[in-house]
Amino acid sequence: MSHTTTCALDPNHTHAEDLVEHADADEHDHAHGLVDRSILRSRAGIRAVSWSLAILTVTALAQAFIYSRTLSVALLADLIHNFGDALTAIPLGIAFYLRSARGERWAGVAVVLAIFISALVALGQTIERFIHPRSLSHLWLLAAAGVLGFIGNEIAAQVRLRAGRRLNSPALVADGNHARVDGFVSLGVLASAAVVALGLPIADPVIGLAITAIILQITWESWHTVRADS
Ligand SMILES: [Zn+2]
Ligand SMILES: [Zn+2]
Ligand SMILES: [Zn+2]
Repeated sequence: MSHTTTCALDPNHTHAEDLVEHADADEHDHAHGLVDRSILRSRAGIRAVSWSLAILTVTALAQAFIYSRTLSVALLADLIHNFGDALTAIPLGIAFYLRSARGERWAGVAVVLAIFISALVALGQTIERFIHPRSLSHLWLLAAAGVLGFIGNEIAAQVRLRAGRRLNSPALVADGNHARVDGFVSLGVLASAAVVALGLPIADPVIGLAITAIILQITWESWHTVRADS
């Protein structure tokens, strides 16, 4: 369950289809970096997205605090992913409050670049951990960070799915499904804590690498989304 598997269903899609009105709720379809046009047209939709992004921000902040204690690279990758999703709030805010499509687009590009650079940092840290393995401490705290990521994303997913069904918005439902998948990505952090506790410290950079690969794939998708919005 990852973005890789969800988007492998249609490897050629560029998310340009997100910019036209959705006719059907395509399970794997989701926008990254920008919020779908159709959601922006409804106040209730914007409210649901804003709430879900606030929840993701709190989740990522809590994970960042735990990262400072454990220095797990799997957690680093996961919190970068969650922060990256929460950053979608910036183009959303610009589109809504400034009513500037151009500003929204540039903010979208900036967000994608920020996520890309963060992913490279996570990649560097993960590679460095392969070369210089270190034992992790605070494994219970690390496990809690994974559970936190799962719960935060699941709540964000429920907020979007409920509003999406109520407003009959396939784009919002798709974003809800996206958050739901992200919750399972966070469980990778829990798995890392468990396997490291069993005496296999290499599990942390291995899982960190897998999550980083997911972020890079999202970055690639997002790039197409913001590029298509010209
Ligand atoms: Zn995705
Ligand atoms: Zn996709
Ligand atoms: Zn995500």
